[in-house]
Amino acid sequence: MKWGDSLTGHVMPRDPNCVFCKIVAGDLPARTVRQNDVGLAFLDINPLADGHLLWVPKEHYPTLHELPPDLLGRLCASLPRLGLAVMKVAGAAGYNILQNNGAAAGQLVNHAHFHLIPRVEGDGLGYRWPARQYPPGRAEELANQLQVVLAAL
Ligand code: 5GP
Ligand code: ZN
Repeated sequence: MKWGDSLTGHVMPRDPNCVFCKIVAGDLPARTVRQNDVGLAFLDINPLADGHLLWVPKEHYPTLHELPPDLLGRLCASLPRLGLAVMKVAGAAGYNILQNNGAAAGQLVNHAHFHLIPRVEGDGLGYRWPARQYPPGRAEELANQLQVVLAAL
């Protein structure tokens, strides 16, 4: 594996059954608002708020960790501009970037993507999840395990 490759070795530029691949190819209509050589931005068909955008790589990678890191970097570089744009059109004071990986995390479309969701005070969308506290020793144990796993990736 060389720098820039997918960490999982995933190579599949297009999945014929994928709705986002169809949108990228122009085979399925979408309200496209911006694109560059690596990504396409279009309105989510079922928005959480007016202006809710999806930013997707033009190549098919199911999850964030399957994207080649250099491609992911190029995609992320566009997020600040897209975030500002959704705030401006929605007259919003903030925005969430949401990125789901795997069905357990709520991913419905298996083509990696970023949600940009404009937020206003009192919009009712919420955000806070119930946070927990580690029992004694657990944080140290997990930090050690993560260091070992990361050293091998
Ligand atoms: P996920 O849960 O996978 O992070 O979110 C997938 C998003 O894609 C959902 O918010 C859903 O509304 C959106 N979506 C699914 N199918 C289509 C489609 O055909 N066109 C557009 N524009 N958005 C879609
Ligand atoms: Zn796809």
